[in-house]
Amino acid sequence: TSFRVTARPVSEGGLSGVIVCFEDETHRAHAEQMRRDFVANVSHELKTPLTALIGFIDTLRGPARADAAARDRFLGIMESEANRMNRLVRDLLSLSRVEAEERVRPTERIDLVALIRETARSLQPLAQETGVEVTTELPAGTTDILGDTDQLRQVLVNLVENAVKYAGAGAVVRVSLTGPAYEPRVRGYGVRIRVTDTGPGIDPVHIPRLTERFYRIDTHRSRERGGTGLGLAIVKHIVNRHRGRLFVESTLGEGTEFTVVLPAG
Ligand code: ADP
Repeated sequence: TSFRVTARPVSEGGLSGVIVCFEDETHRAHAEQMRRDFVANVSHELKTPLTALIGFIDTLRGPARADAAARDRFLGIMESEANRMNRLVRDLLSLSRVEAEERVRPTERIDLVALIRETARSLQPLAQETGVEVTTELPAGTTDILGDTDQLRQVLVNLVENAVKYAGAGAVVRVSLTGPAYEPRVRGYGVRIRVTDTGPGIDPVHIPRLTERFYRIDTHRSRERGGTGLGLAIVKHIVNRHRGRLFVESTLGEGTEFTVVLPAG
């Protein structure tokens, strides 16, 4: 803990003394440090693909000029590096938008059953390409809550994409919706969205840090699968904006379950 201490003399009605003020600076210093770390991380994440792009441009101008096969290969790499920068900028923009709106209550009436069904369907091509089966378990009828459609779709996309990407070929991903029921964790009625995978699981030491920006268990693997390290940070902010809670349970060798509890009514 660090304090900023200031003192100033006062005198009033024949009495005089000193006012001493202790201001807790720990929080401010911490926020400042987080901001600096974030800027350093963003710069690093952008610099890596940029350095590769610049390097390949040089090679294409020089040694690879007359070699059609090499040129094609390098252009392919350049394209994937440019796509990586694009995903990073897209996620940074969503994160900043979500943060800006965090204190504004979402007001759209949304049917979660339809939203989950639609989102799961839109992720079928990725699932098929990866060799993962994505299934849903949804209540009959509708389940309405107040929320932000685009943001809740983003939560589902990020959780299901992660489950598909990290669980890998042969795995099963299940998306289920239950409730509304009394949920002590949101101190009222709430619904539960669960995304469960039969992947490799997550070592418990990583779990508390998963929603930090740019936190990845295996940076190489995340990059290889198109990850930016921002997906769960975005999920966390959206869930906070909806006054919900996010939980992660995982067993190594068995799989992982992300649970989002959202207040309903
Ligand atoms: P990324 O863009 O790297 O996927 P996220 O913020 O979405 O970033 O996730 C952070 C990290 O959490 C990932 O890099 C991965 O190591 C781990 N992770 C997330 N979801 C799963 C999952 N379903 N199974 C195993 N690991 C996961």
